[in-house]
Amino acid sequence: MPDNKRKILVTSALPYANGPIHLGHLVEYIQTDIWVRFQKLHGHECWYVCADDTHGTPVMLRAQQEGVTPEQLITRMHAEHASDFADFGVAFDNYYSTHSPENRELAALIYKKLQAGGHIAKRTIKQAYDPVKQMFLPDRFIKGECPRCGAPDQYGDSCEVCGATYSPTELKNAVSALSGAKPVEKESEHYFFKLGDFEESLKKWLFPEITAPRHVQPEVANKLDEWFNAGLQDWDISRDAPYFGFEIPDAPGKYFYVWLDAPIGYMASFKNLCAAKGLNFDEFWGKDSKTELYHFIGKDILYFHALFWPAMLEGAGFRKPSAVFAHGFLTVNGQKMSKSRGTFITARTYLDHLNPEYLRYYFAAKLGPRVEDIDLSFEDFVARINSDLVGKYVNIASRAAGFLTKRFQGRLIEERELMAEDTHISSDMALEQRLYAEENAILAAYAERDYGRVVREVMRLADQVNQYFDRNKPWELAKSSDPLLEKRLHQVCSECINAFRVLTIYLRPIMPRLADKVADFLNLQGELDWAHLNRYPTKPIKEYQHLLTRVDPKAIEAMLSASKESLKMTTTETTPAAAGIEPIKPEITIDDFGKLDLRIARIVKAGYVEGADKLLQLTVDLGEGKTRNVFAGIRSAYEPAALEGRLTVVVANLAPRKMKFGLSEGMVLAAGPGGKDLWILSPDTGAQPGMRVK
Ligand SMILES: [Zn+2]
Repeated sequence: MPDNKRKILVTSALPYANGPIHLGHLVEYIQTDIWVRFQKLHGHECWYVCADDTHGTPVMLRAQQEGVTPEQLITRMHAEHASDFADFGVAFDNYYSTHSPENRELAALIYKKLQAGGHIAKRTIKQAYDPVKQMFLPDRFIKGECPRCGAPDQYGDSCEVCGATYSPTELKNAVSALSGAKPVEKESEHYFFKLGDFEESLKKWLFPEITAPRHVQPEVANKLDEWFNAGLQDWDISRDAPYFGFEIPDAPGKYFYVWLDAPIGYMASFKNLCAAKGLNFDEFWGKDSKTELYHFIGKDILYFHALFWPAMLEGAGFRKPSAVFAHGFLTVNGQKMSKSRGTFITARTYLDHLNPEYLRYYFAAKLGPRVEDIDLSFEDFVARINSDLVGKYVNIASRAAGFLTKRFQGRLIEERELMAEDTHISSDMALEQRLYAEENAILAAYAERDYGRVVREVMRLADQVNQYFDRNKPWELAKSSDPLLEKRLHQVCSECINAFRVLTIYLRPIMPRLADKVADFLNLQGELDWAHLNRYPTKPIKEYQHLLTRVDPKAIEAMLSASKESLKMTTTETTPAAAGIEPIKPEITIDDFGKLDLRIARIVKAGYVEGADKLLQLTVDLGEGKTRNVFAGIRSAYEPAALEGRLTVVVANLAPRKMKFGLSEGMVLAAGPGGKDLWILSPDTGAQPGMRVK
């Protein structure tokens, strides 16, 4: 037990309410949950809160698409997220929503205090506006041609082809991604938070005296230094209606930008918990709070958490965080998570195939205190679970338990002191001493979020226990009827089970469910924690049951292919493959596309081809002053008469092909799987033969 019981409030970043939780998200929730469980098992008062981040344009538009209200959408997403987290053992004390009365009240309060302090400015800005949807368009909802390279279909903030960044007004032929209408520029009054007002105090907080506690990791401090050098800009915190969010007090039609009320959602979730548990909100959030506050976040949202958020808190008279802990991103098999490779894996798809504690263990083994990306390599995953976790740690219990239950009614040997004369005592005691001696190192590693070190230490100890078992050869001791050897057998197996108990306490924050099973097996419910670490067990153990099975690599294969399948179900980020269509060909450049010459053509004449039951012979006019002969495999879908006079699209520069029936001088474009299901393309009215399709 710690000498001083600390009071700690911990948060993870709020997942956005328009898509499923995936393995990339889980890095953070598992990282945080392990830390919280560790603090609780170590006897501290620690509260872990989170919420769905529910506001903003994407939620509003998705609800419209689905034909539901935003409230209905966020209620459904909340239930999905909450059950994903619960199944991964992520044990929030409160999982709330930013669309809550507490959050509305706190956002208004913080805003009013910032306004009273002179930290809010109003300015009129020009923005792209969709005249059909009648709403201002975020950059991501404007598409057009890149002003630098001319690539079509690029977003309003950057070009995915050449990497250029620009403002939406620079896009050529810009259209609203919502309506297809040409956006117009429209003026609107916006509200700004004057971040620059807090520059000095933020610097003091972020770069304290050498001896003072650090609030951010060293590499984060370096990044922040760059941002200070670039200058702190005012932050646009308002959005115009229509917007799903909280209306700004005394500003009808103006809403808080989702990023303003999202971090306030941490406070709101805690406030809601306070009401349920009788906690004192001000004790945790008051300006002079003696409690601790930690935010776990991804490196991509540092600006919000290390600059905006502490400045807002200070401006509104609240305490600042004790620390912000940033982590890196997840790659899978060394690459960005990818839908086409099946490595964009949702929490639910994983749960359908694999034990969630494997992933907790694997992430723990990879996580350290630094802001580094971590890689989920499935080969490594299988090796770590099967060789380390099952092959070393679980192995200790499975080899030692049988002797105890079969020969000693499950009781561990009681007369350990009486063995002092025993020549083996030194090796037994040495093993036990080594196990207990690691306690402080493991406590420190957890506290520093260095779970990789915890796992390495535990596996090193597990190796030593297995070596001890092998050295003492219980399987040979068991063959003898000599009472001394019998006692020795009892002793060795008891030491191993006790060692297994200690290692389980060390691993418990990482694998809580496995630890519960072990507690049941060892008859130690409520005693597998740090307070009981040095207490040799006195109750008989139960018969050994399988605690954990090895990973079957086939389950991973199945998960990856199910991830490709599940794309059809996830509506958040649909890709062409999502519809179950033929895979998209490898990417080509605009230059490659430029080589294709597609022309509008009129079908002048169409007829059957003697001896060819799939072909029609077409005479087409491309406006060249002569006609061309083309054979098209569309006989099963079209009567020749129905085609005559129609306009279609022809590949005009395809090398002529000599066929059995004559020369084909081009190709008519058609879509569909074949047979009756074939459709030739036709242009909109107005297109003329010879026009180039581009
Ligand atoms: Zn470009």
